[in-house]
Amino acid sequence: MDRRPWNYDLSPLSHGLSSRPTLNDMSTSVNDPALRSWIPVPKNSDFPIQNIPFGIAAWNGEPPVPATRIGDTVVDLSILADMGLLDGLGIDREAFQAPQLNDLMAFGKPAMRALRQRLSELLREGNTTFRDDNVLREDALLPMDQVTMHLPVRIGDYTDFYSSREHATNVGTMFRDPANALLPNWLHLPVGYHGRASSIVVSGTPFHRPMGQTRPDPNAPPVFGPSKLLDIELEMGFITFDGKPLGQRISTAEAEDHIFGLVLFNDWSARDIQTWEYVPLGPFLAKNFASHASAWVVTLDALEPFRTSGPPQDPEPLPYLRTNGDRAFDIALDVAIKPAKGEATTVARSNFKHLYWSMAQQLAHHTVNGCNVRNGDLMASGTISGPAPDSYGSMLEITWRGTKPVTLANGEERKFIADGDTVIIGGHCEKNGLRIGFGTVEGTVLPVVPYE
Ligand code: MN
Repeated sequence: MDRRPWNYDLSPLSHGLSSRPTLNDMSTSVNDPALRSWIPVPKNSDFPIQNIPFGIAAWNGEPPVPATRIGDTVVDLSILADMGLLDGLGIDREAFQAPQLNDLMAFGKPAMRALRQRLSELLREGNTTFRDDNVLREDALLPMDQVTMHLPVRIGDYTDFYSSREHATNVGTMFRDPANALLPNWLHLPVGYHGRASSIVVSGTPFHRPMGQTRPDPNAPPVFGPSKLLDIELEMGFITFDGKPLGQRISTAEAEDHIFGLVLFNDWSARDIQTWEYVPLGPFLAKNFASHASAWVVTLDALEPFRTSGPPQDPEPLPYLRTNGDRAFDIALDVAIKPAKGEATTVARSNFKHLYWSMAQQLAHHTVNGCNVRNGDLMASGTISGPAPDSYGSMLEITWRGTKPVTLANGEERKFIADGDTVIIGGHCEKNGLRIGFGTVEGTVLPVVPYE
């Protein structure tokens, strides 16, 4: 299956593709549960034609390029663009050859919406343009298990929020005072901190257990060594389009116009390093050794049918944080640990809708002081814990600081994450027979790199 240079012209109009529809038309028709693709979609797949996620895929040693996915088939957008099938959307062809999605996202939300619409048309049952072109089909369609996925976006700035009331309450109960578990600011603003973008890696990238300074005995000097309390944080992150220039604010009403889509996110945390280092400036080396993002960005448009109300907010937020309508999304999340030897065991099931502060509120708060947001910024939710112990989003909470170990299917116990463990987080929405998902974000812990 060699790539071949395409030298004949296929104008979109000659294939009956629509001109650019209005925004409202697009989100409705692309999300229609009745749509089917001519590409097979396995039962319970996260990637029916109503999803049309975006990612960066490489095949057979070729440079990574933008792609989408139907079922277990990856669609190479660089080939479709070369053929002219993605013309007329207001996106330069060169952007489809870039090794990250930022070049496409630079054309803005209406263009990305039009691109998703065009792909839906090309891939749906009854459209023969792509389906009946044997050469194009063979060239642009790749089996998922034969491609290498790359980080979808060149992440500029990474912000991590702390927006789950249940998580903040659990942590406050464990480490401070059960009667005053939430700090005084928590119900008034979405607490967050600036993280590090360089160590965010794509699902499947192994990483080494971090070394660091800890103080296991509060009455003795600190020690240096491998983190013994390596933890996960079940999170999701949203990826931004360009925001506004420095000095301007994005309102809650405008916020979703600046959000491209979401990924699953595992924000690995070394609890023992964190406990010792975080005062007074907050997380540092306990957080920046690795975070995993899922490979496929699911657009906010694809998630539209799963919009729902979030938790009631009391006290009422200040005016700049108030929102109208439903701002939460019903996304079921699960966490499994697969030990070096043995099957994976699910240790938690949560839901994105539990978050107290919505993405719109997070983005409005982030920019209320004039902070600018750029194409490719990643804003993570913070650990997403639900109300029940089996819905907690970190081992810290699941095992309640190690006092209630979990037993894996192979009989081993876990208080935190062991070398050789692979942590697998899944996320999907389901409603009226339609399932849209993210696949998984996975990461395997390797032993420490020996200190020399
Ligand atoms: Mn986090």
